[in-house]
Parts: sequence; structure tokens; C-alpha cells
Amino acid sequence: MVRVTKCFLWLFFVFAVAMAATTAARAQSSSNTQTSNAPVAGQGAPAFDVNAAVEAYLAKMPPAERARSNAYFEGGYWLQLWDFLSTVVVMWLLLRFRVSMRMRDFAERITRFRPLQTAIYWLVFIVTLFVATFPLTVYEGYIREHKYGLSNQTFGPWMRDQVVALGVGIVLGAIFIVPLFGLVRRLGRNWWVWGAVVSVVFIAFFALIAPVYISPLFNKYSKLQDPSIKDPILSMARANGIPATDVYEFDASRQSNRVSANVSGFAGTLQISLNDNLLKRCTLPEIETTMGHEMGHYVLNHIYKGLVMNGVVIVIGFAFLNWGINFALSRWGKSWGSRDVGDVAVLPLAVIVLSIYFFVTTPVNNTITRSMELEADMYGLNAARQPDGEANVDLLLGEYRKMDPGPIEELVFFDHPSGRTRITAAMRWKAEHPETASPEEMKRPLFPTP
Ligand SMILES: [Zn+2]
Repeated sequence: MVRVTKCFLWLFFVFAVAMAATTAARAQSSSNTQTSNAPVAGQGAPAFDVNAAVEAYLAKMPPAERARSNAYFEGGYWLQLWDFLSTVVVMWLLLRFRVSMRMRDFAERITRFRPLQTAIYWLVFIVTLFVATFPLTVYEGYIREHKYGLSNQTFGPWMRDQVVALGVGIVLGAIFIVPLFGLVRRLGRNWWVWGAVVSVVFIAFFALIAPVYISPLFNKYSKLQDPSIKDPILSMARANGIPATDVYEFDASRQSNRVSANVSGFAGTLQISLNDNLLKRCTLPEIETTMGHEMGHYVLNHIYKGLVMNGVVIVIGFAFLNWGINFALSRWGKSWGSRDVGDVAVLPLAVIVLSIYFFVTTPVNNTITRSMELEADMYGLNAARQPDGEANVDLLLGEYRKMDPGPIEELVFFDHPSGRTRITAAMRWKAEHPETASPEEMKRPLFPTP
């Protein structure tokens, strides 16, 4: 996603991201790797040592690979700060030099129809933001991704994705902003309560349409054909009461080598998708455990729980927004040429206030997502019964997520559990189910030997 969309449509993407479950796996080898010759606790073999098993898995990642992944992920902490600061600075400039006021006046000269004025303002606003933050976007999304060997895209196709994302931001943003400002103008003092409600409704709308109308703009989705992979997945779906008749694959390799899968949409648009990197790079047990995780999101109703939990965060955020806007307008409103809270020229101020709020509440939002991800991991372990496959997938995810952070670091920055946390969960589960051990998975090399 383009940065412009990211920083302004933050609200909605928090949720989309929450649901874009990122777990991994893959297989062409697709043979059943469950065997029974693993050491079994209680039969004279030494009791299974969870910690030693975790360390053994972590050691599968070569030190150079781990150093690269750590540097990439830790750099991301700083990027969050630069994103935040650059957004605030751009927004402040729009207010301070009355650019926002002129954009509003421009919209008012074109039409007297207020909803259309809001839409025109939005168009000019988001394009301005896109241009102003473009250098950082290029660094963050293109240069840096290539530097760490995580991107497969040349500049042309990458730029094409940015422009498409901008288009999505223009259309969806207008669908959100126009009714929101209409509501604010009619409701007066209590606008923020209804503003929060409209936001939650919009997020649900976005989550509903994303798999059908948004995701296909960036990747090609097709029904997974290979019965050796599809059949076990659908069998697991039936066993878990999931009404899926198809599994989708998409060409994530267009963008990167990252392994991932997700369950998106809900109600009529529910879709289980795995990316082609997962299919190419993982074994069947790894794919199964990944799918078990995604099914966990579905069975545990994470989409609805996420709406409720993020809804609480958003209501509080809008209360803060109401306070922040009134506070700033009473001091600087005149010099900025912003009339009141119902004036669309106030938008940069709203972005500043919400950016501060979401920046400060990052650990809260990450914890909401991360706890659901850990639940889905547990569900996946119980559904797929592939603890070693799970550990391998967790290692592959370590290509772009730090494997072994400190506890505070994980609490603050991780929207998914760290590799260590996930492998520990898998090994703890395996200790109680020694019959599921897979020596093939344990041995399987995951990273090219240097
Ligand atoms: Zn997930």
C-alpha cells in the first residue's frame, strides 16, 4: 500500500492488517511426513525438553540471516517514527501556510454542492500528500525492500501499485469522508460519537469488499487446483465447520518472496487465500499448519472481535480528536483559515491529532492483533497437529520479522508474536503430543547455506 493511503486511512487498515494473517508454509514435496520413529516421552527416552527444542529450531537460522532480519525489522521501528513525524510536518505546513484553506476555497468555487466540495477537497488533499511524502515512500517501499533482498519488483510495476493504491485511497477515502463531514455538520457537539460509529461501519465495509474488489487490483487470485494440497485443506475446513468449497492462491511473488496466507472478508465474501511463495517454499505439513491458523481466525470470530476491540480504540480516539480539534481551533483556527469542526479544511488537523493518538496507542493496537494471532496459532496446532511444520513456518516468517526480541520490544512493536514465542507454543504443544513429531521437518533446511 502506498504511504499516503497508509497514513490517512490508518484507521481502516489497522483492521485490514489485523485480519491479513501472516503465517506461512509450502510444498511440492507434499508427501506425508508424519512418522512414528521420533523419540517418545515415557518410553525410556528422555523427557522432551521444550527449551532445548526451541533453541534447536532458532539455530536453524544462520547468524547472517538473523542479523539481516533483525536490522530490517528494527529499522522498521524508526520508520514508524519517521512516518509519523513526516505526516505531522506535512499536515502542519498545510495549515500554517493556509494551503488547506485554499484547497477548500478552490472546492467551493467549483460547486455549491457541499458533499461534492468535500470530495474535491479530499482529492486535492490526498494527491498533495502523495506527492509530499513520495520520497519517503520510495525509500521505504522500494529502495529499502531491495536493499534487504525482500522485493521482486522493478520500479515500473512497483510504481503501478502505488498509483493503484492512490486510486483506491481516493475512492474509498471519499466514500468515508463525505458522509463523515455531512454528519459532523448536522450533529454539532456530539459529532465524535457518530463519527466513531461511521468509522467502524466503514472498516466493516472495507473488510467485506476487500477480497472481492481491492486485493485483485494488486494480485491475481485463482482457485487452487493441486488436489494433493487442496484436499487436505478442505478436509480440515470441513472438520472445523468452515463452509469453504475453494481455496485461493495468489501471485504474491509479483511483489516479494515472503510467505504468507490470509483469511479475508466475512459473511458472503469470506475467502481463504495462500500465496504462491508459500506453495513453492513449504511442505504440506507447513501449509496445513498455516491453514489451521487461518481457520482459527475464522472459527474464533476474530473479524467480529477485532471490530469490537478496535471499535473501543476508535471511540476513545474520536473523543481525543474532538478535544484536540477544539483545542487547536480555539488557538490557531483563525490564522489557519479553518472555520470550525465541520469545515473540511480542518482535515490536516484531524490527521495530526489522530496520528498522535495512533502513534501513542501502537502497543495497544499491536497487542489486540498479536493476541488474536497467538490464539490462531494455538488453534492451528490443534487443528493441523504439525508442531514441527509450524516451527519451520515461524522460521520462514523470521526473514522479515525479528525472531527473538525482548519482551517489552515484542509488546510494543509486534503485531504478530515473535518467532521465539510461536516456536515455543509449538514445542510446548509437541511435548504433550510426542506422536506428532516429524524428523523430516526438524531436519529440513530452510535457508540457503552460506
Ligand atoms: Zn493470523
